[in-house]
Amino acid sequence: MTQPFAVYAIRYAHREASLRGEHFYRGDARPNEPYPIDYFVWAAVSAEATVVVDAGFTPETAKRRGNRDYLRSPMDTLRELGVEARTVEHLVLTHLHYDHVGHVRDFPAAQVLVQRSEYEFWTGPFAMRGEYGRLHEPPDMTYLREQVGRGRVRLIDGDFTVVPGVTLHLLGGHTHGLQVVRVTTAAGHVVLASDASHFYENIGADRPYSIVDHLPSMYRAFDRIRELADAENLIIPGHDPLVLNRFPAAAPALAGLAARVA
Ligand SMILES: [Zn+2]
Repeated sequence: MTQPFAVYAIRYAHREASLRGEHFYRGDARPNEPYPIDYFVWAAVSAEATVVVDAGFTPETAKRRGNRDYLRSPMDTLRELGVEARTVEHLVLTHLHYDHVGHVRDFPAAQVLVQRSEYEFWTGPFAMRGEYGRLHEPPDMTYLREQVGRGRVRLIDGDFTVVPGVTLHLLGGHTHGLQVVRVTTAAGHVVLASDASHFYENIGADRPYSIVDHLPSMYRAFDRIRELADAENLIIPGHDPLVLNRFPAAAPALAGLAARVA
């Protein structure tokens, strides 16, 4: 029997100056209405294994890009949850946008799990073209490429079991090789949707996000996420400030920084 996992959403950054019009494909009927965005790292923790999902952006990147409040290092919050970043064995990267891969070097013992199609896209001929150049940080890709050379990265083709109770599912849509994470918990199967649904409203209203690799795959991703999760409230979006309202703080001292979602 697999031990159920506890799942935490760790909020490490916030951008208040964010508008509805930015967050839906083809814009929104109320484009100038405020729509703040949070940035998260997630962790699935059981007695036998710890899997960290995504690696945020660094304070340096936050400063250079401006407009973003870096709240606290996700590694510091993980430590308060009993997880030492330096010893984590599994680091999943849902996709390689700048806000999901900045701290990979802070997990030096981890095998890094990323879809091959995602890795090939961001190390391929289109990565610096127009909008794509803005969506990733080339030094992050240089580091990742080195880690591939060192054998620390596992390039995955499709669905994959990280450890019993934690599985990866290739969905694409938002990026070429976006994957989501399904975790077995005491409350049922949780799906860490990451940017397959930035906000509850994307999947809830069937309205894809504005950054699109392949639109039909975004709709298919919504359907697949619903199949993978045991209940609607066990679908965790990638950037929604409501996550910290809907779930209790992971500990009293971590209010506003980490929620326990299951
Ligand atoms: Zn993101």
